[in-house]
Parts: sequence; C-alpha cells; structure tokens
Amino acid sequence: MAGDVLQDILDIARANGATPEHVRALLTTWLAGGELSLDVRGFPPSKRLIAALPQLRAVFDARARVRTEHPSADGSMRLLIELADGATVESVLLARGGLCISTQVGCAVGCVFCKTGEGGLVRQLSGVEMLAQVALARARADVRRVVLMGMGEPAHNLESVLAALRVLGAEGRLAHKHLVFSTVGDRAAFEALHGHGVRPALALSLHTTKSELRRELLPRAPRIEPRELLELALAYADATTWPLQVQWTLLAGLNDGDDELEALATWLAGRRAMVNFIPWNQVDGMSFARPGEERGREMVRFLRARGVIATLRRSGGQDVEGACGQLRARELPLRRRANAAPQPVEDPRVGARVETRGEISAPRSTT
Ligand code: SF4
Repeated sequence: MAGDVLQDILDIARANGATPEHVRALLTTWLAGGELSLDVRGFPPSKRLIAALPQLRAVFDARARVRTEHPSADGSMRLLIELADGATVESVLLARGGLCISTQVGCAVGCVFCKTGEGGLVRQLSGVEMLAQVALARARADVRRVVLMGMGEPAHNLESVLAALRVLGAEGRLAHKHLVFSTVGDRAAFEALHGHGVRPALALSLHTTKSELRRELLPRAPRIEPRELLELALAYADATTWPLQVQWTLLAGLNDGDDELEALATWLAGRRAMVNFIPWNQVDGMSFARPGEERGREMVRFLRARGVIATLRRSGGQDVEGACGQLRARELPLRRRANAAPQPVEDPRVGARVETRGEISAPRSTT
C-alpha cells in the first residue's frame, strides 16, 4: 500500500500496535487535511497507539508546512510550501476543487518560456512531499482533483510520482480520472502508466506540431516526433477512456499559426483528446508575447469546426504569480537558506548535470 512512501510513519504506528486498518485510517485522515483518527469499526486502537498520535502528527507535519498563502482575486490561491530541508515549492488551489502540485524543486526540461526551466533541477520531491501538498491544501479547501502541473516534470521523478498517485487513489479517496499526470512526453512514463494500478488522466504538453520548433521550445525534452508523441499519448487515453489533454502554451508569432491548426485538426479529429490553449503568462526577463484574445478564440473555433474539442484557458492566480509559468521557489530568509543549500542532481533521463542557481525559480507551466 503506502509503505514505500511513508515508511517512518508505518514503523512508529506498527511499533505501537497499529493494524493495517489503523494505518489506512491515519493516512486517510491526514490526506483529508483534518485531525488524525484511528477510528476503525471492529478495530479499537490500543491506549499505547492513541498515546502515539501526537508523535505521529509531528512526523507528518515535519514533512512540509505552508509558509505563506497568496489568495487571488479570481478565487485561486498560491501556497508557498517549505520542505524539511528548507527547499520550497508551490502549490495552487484552483477553482472548482482543483489543486496543482509540484513534483520537483526546479525542472531539467528547460522550456524556454518557463521560469522553472531557467533554474534547472534542484532536487526531486519524495512521494510524501507530494502527498503533504495535498494534505496542506485540504486543510484549507475541499480538493477533489489533483493535477501534477506544478514545478517539475513528473516523468523525471517517476517512481515517487507513481507511489504518490497510488496513495492518492486509495487513502486519498480521489477518483483516477481526477488525478492528472502531466508530461512533455516520455516513453518510459507512458509504459509505466499503462501498467500502473492507478490510471490517472494524461496531459501532454505539446505546444507545437513542428519537430524543430519543439526542440527549440523544449530543449531537453525527449526527442520524439510530435506526431508519434501524440499517438503514444492517445494510446494511453484510449486504454483508460479519459480524454488526452493536449496542453499548448500560446506564444504569438511562434505557435499560433494556421499551419499548426491544420496539423492539429488532421491528427486529432475524432480522437479521444481535447486541446487546451493557454496564453503565455508574463514572466520577467522573457520576451515572448501572447496572441490577442480574438486570435485565441479563432483558433478554438477553427478546431471545433474540424471536430476537435478545444478550449481557451485562462490561468488562475495571475495577480499573485500563481499562474502557469509563474510559480517559483521563493527565497526564504538567509538563515534558513543557509541550512538548506540545494545540491545539483544528476538526472539520468536528461543525461546532464544540472547546476542550481542561488535562487530557485520554478514555475508550473504546462507539464
Ligand atoms: S514547462 Fe514544465 S517541463 Fe518545461 S521547464 Fe517548465 S516545469 Fe519543466
């Protein structure tokens, strides 16, 4: 069950006489964002186990805490999360029960329109650190959908991500279709998802149908031709019956042309997929521009007329830098940061040693 991601909790609980049912109750109540409970019909907990609850709570709480909250005028809220080693990531509470969580501190893919890409990969998050983001968010709001679209590329932290998804689908009580695995595309990730017990919905950050342009925009994404990439993702969508979400950050003059629409219409008409156009959100120091609102609407109309479901999305939380492409690991006071100097991480998939910078910049964007 959850042993691979919460071993220390299990050890304490079992040492105090917890049964598997008690452990499940602990995880379920933690992930619900409330008080821990051992209330299981037919399995009264021992006094020793009840007495261990504060210790268990302390172990859960030590994983992560909300450092600051940033409510947006549109109802979303950015949460700056501080991890046990002082590193920070961000989660965003979205409208209608959604939560966007991070899977890495930083990201190695290096998308040129994303602040995270600039900062490189600092470190992987553990599965528990992903779960903690859900627990902290649920202490503040009713979360019914979790998307892995925060900082990081989930396919580069596959083992921990899959372990966290398993727990979210079981003790987290989230329907599989309400879990969204988001990726720039990775053969190993597609294969792993096919054979995994929890089958989340899939979002593919495609951004363009042109190989060369994709290499420029996503310089360290796996080299897979866009058409083949779509087919790999569509095969998973067909297997699960959850529509593929094709993510497309709109960059004026780069990927908003009729040629892109023509290719999308040809490849996707009648397929189990929808295209989400997301106008690029302003990030300091980057010179991209978003197309006008009318062009976005026109693109949606074009695809719909050709039998492709398409939407023009507005990222929530832009006024609090919580929108796609704007998240980052905010700087902490010097004392804390000195305790938590991030280490470079060797990313086997990228095959490059990624040096960290003084300040971690990591937004979610569209992975
Ligand atoms: S867009 Fe996603 S994959 Fe690309 S650098 Fe940003 S977080 Fe990483």
